Amino acid sequence: MTIKRNVLLNPGPATTTDTVKLAQVVPDICPREKDFAGLMKGLRRDIVRIVHGDERYTSVLFCGSGTLNMDVCLNSLLPEGKKILVANNGAYSSRAVEICEAYGLPHINLKMPVEQPVDVDAVEKTLVDNPDIAVVYTTHHETGSGVLNPIREIGAAAHRHGCTFIVDTTSTYAMRPINIIEDNVDFLMASAQKGLQSMTGLSFVVGREDLIRASAAFPKRSYYCNLFLQYDYFEKTGEMHFTPPVQTVYATIQALKEYFSEGETAKWARHTRVFEAIHKGLADLGFRNLIKREYQSGLVVSVCYPDDPNWNFEKVHDYCYERGFTIYPGKVGSAKTFRLCALGQIDAPDIVEFFKVFKNAIDSFGIQVRYDS
Ligand SMILES: *Cc1c(COP(=O)(O)O)cnc(C)c1O
Repeated sequence: MTIKRNVLLNPGPATTTDTVKLAQVVPDICPREKDFAGLMKGLRRDIVRIVHGDERYTSVLFCGSGTLNMDVCLNSLLPEGKKILVANNGAYSSRAVEICEAYGLPHINLKMPVEQPVDVDAVEKTLVDNPDIAVVYTTHHETGSGVLNPIREIGAAAHRHGCTFIVDTTSTYAMRPINIIEDNVDFLMASAQKGLQSMTGLSFVVGREDLIRASAAFPKRSYYCNLFLQYDYFEKTGEMHFTPPVQTVYATIQALKEYFSEGETAKWARHTRVFEAIHKGLADLGFRNLIKREYQSGLVVSVCYPDDPNWNFEKVHDYCYERGFTIYPGKVGSAKTFRLCALGQIDAPDIVEFFKVFKNAIDSFGIQVRYDS
């Protein structure tokens, strides 16, 4: 079987290998069989291993997209009468604030500029002024802008004030190396279709088992999306409480094999090659970045629209899409940007091929890459 290969330069789902795609084609199985529970056990362990967690850490799997984990962590880990502090410098932390609002969770939305990393001193000051904060939440890599946040320092501040530190690592997990212990993280989360290069439908939280157990006493604000309830079911039965995404579990087991055989360092080096190739291609054509290079995650580039009326993102997108390359709109406030991302099973030569197509699009639509200011 040959499957057309598309190069996805959007921020996930990412380009996958054929071996991961084909791993989904398995005999029908009821996920309540012991054989299936056995697969989930290894999967849970490997998911913790990627972020170098020791026996104090566990992973809890859910059926759903990445946002589900944000919902789970926020609604499950807040004790009665306490507050969440969201260190917010982008679209994904703003989504966390919306989740707090939807549940009516007491929270402080510490809004900061979207074009630079979270200011750790501002986080510390807010913690000093508000001793009722029990949870600090942030996003490791704001995928909308490409800004990377200093989680180790934010986590240290959270811990100095006795708070639990939750980080959304959906767009760094299994790409940028993370050490959950050294990075001062209590809970992190991701989904299978981004860094792991697997399929959509499986997401997971990795975190401190003692804190999950302690959360059994916190208010239950959701039935399906409660961290302790799902954990407890796994501990008792080895299974997800409700129907798991069976085929995605098989794909993810294959993706993990491929992750460990490539290796953390080599994989990050490959993403870095792709990122550098994206920067080179953009610079050759005269495009500008929105975010300062030293603030970037190494995975997403936010590119400013050129000041030429012939520029039309949709037309350029369609031209590239028809030729097997997917580019993606931006998500940084009102700034006019699009994104090129270094996720997935791609390498520098794919980016060289992409820029041939992209340049043809620019030329055929008569676009001048210039900036008036
Ligand atoms: C992709 C992503 C999510 C999850 O988005 P879904 O559409 O629910 O998969 C959450 N946080 C970050 C930082 C992301 O990049």
